[in-house]
Amino acid sequence: MEIAIIAHDGKKAEMIQFLMDFKALILAKEISLISTGTTGKNAEKAGFKVAKFLSGPFGGDAQIAARVAEGKTNMVFFFRDPLGMHPHEPDIAMLMRLCDVHDVPLATNPATAELLMKSL
Ligand code: PGA
Repeated sequence: MEIAIIAHDGKKAEMIQFLMDFKALILAKEISLISTGTTGKNAEKAGFKVAKFLSGPFGGDAQIAARVAEGKTNMVFFFRDPLGMHPHEPDIAMLMRLCDVHDVPLATNPATAELLMKSL
């Protein structure tokens, strides 16, 4: 099971808290975490093993979108900041679109991510 984690700057603290809350499950289910660059660095600091891609604005979302299209990523937790402006908005839209094209579960906030985690 490969889960992608991505959090915009205003949501990174919530992402780390979410991961901590589900740390036991992540380890027990041997979930492979992949992430955009800065989100991954934060998760590593919190003690998680993460395969990091480029930072979001430099193409990280697009790299993860490609993995979704290739069938390698099973779930995406993308904590978006709805109050911020993002230079890589086209990449963000592409990632969400490809999740829908390939029917890959996508959580854009912690409440939904929690429900998905509990389904594992
Ligand atoms: P980041 O990218 O983890 O490198 O900050 C997230 C994003 O902005 O999509």
